Amino acid sequence: VVSAKKVSKFFTGFQALKDIDLNVAKGETIVVCGPSGSGKSTLIRCLNALEQHQSGELVVCGIELTSSRQSIDAVRRRTGMVFQNFNLFPHMTVIENCMIAPMKVKGMSRDEARATAERFLKRVHIPEQADKYPAQLSGGQQQRVAIARALSMSPDVMLFDEPTSALDPEMVREVLDTMVELAKEGSTMICVTHEMNFARQVADRVIFMDRGTIVESGAPEAFFANPQTDRAREFLAQIL
Ligand code: ATP
Ligand code: MG
Repeated sequence: VVSAKKVSKFFTGFQALKDIDLNVAKGETIVVCGPSGSGKSTLIRCLNALEQHQSGELVVCGIELTSSRQSIDAVRRRTGMVFQNFNLFPHMTVIENCMIAPMKVKGMSRDEARATAERFLKRVHIPEQADKYPAQLSGGQQQRVAIARALSMSPDVMLFDEPTSALDPEMVREVLDTMVELAKEGSTMICVTHEMNFARQVADRVIFMDRGTIVESGAPEAFFANPQTDRAREFLAQIL
């Protein structure tokens, strides 16, 4: 689903990603962690073309990402993104939030989009919130709407950028539970998160980034029990 070869990303005078090599297969759940500023968000944003890489080769969902509008649109149609701050449309109800992209991008009829949205709201356990506005929901509920909205496009891969870090502690669990369910159902997921219990429960691989590079990549048990680098050890000591 993802194949990155020597992918680099520069912001004016600063290299945020340095020669990233990464392969993710269908059905895998990957957790990306690392210190602030290490390039986690930049990596995940490059994967759905919210940022453009400048060198190396990046193939996502079988499409080589270039600067062409076509490749960018095609990749965005096949990837679902969930942000830290939900990014719901505030002036639309929950169900409208979930219907808009399938109608506009996929050309679904209103009835079909509504049925699809209802199915995914059920899947994230909030079908009863369909006609509320985002501001009327808790943070955990809003994030589950954001997940349902992304799922309603039937993406090949779900990308999560710290989906629980803006939530009150009591709401973290409900969002993580939803993500665990998705992982167990076989969704392909790349998750930037520091929720290491989530990593232990469902990750096939944990990737540790520092200063724009992937420093370690391995099974969660191995990574937690026996990190290979001082940088990873220090990082784990801080968050565990
Ligand atoms: P955090 O854990 O704080 O979210 P991160 O690992 O997600 O950090 P990134 O947001 O990917 O880090 O940023 C990596 C580096 O790139 C940082 O040094 C950041 O300042 C820089 N950077 C990110 N976006 C931009 C931008 N639009 N313009 C300039 N520099 C940027
Ligand atoms: Mg980030």
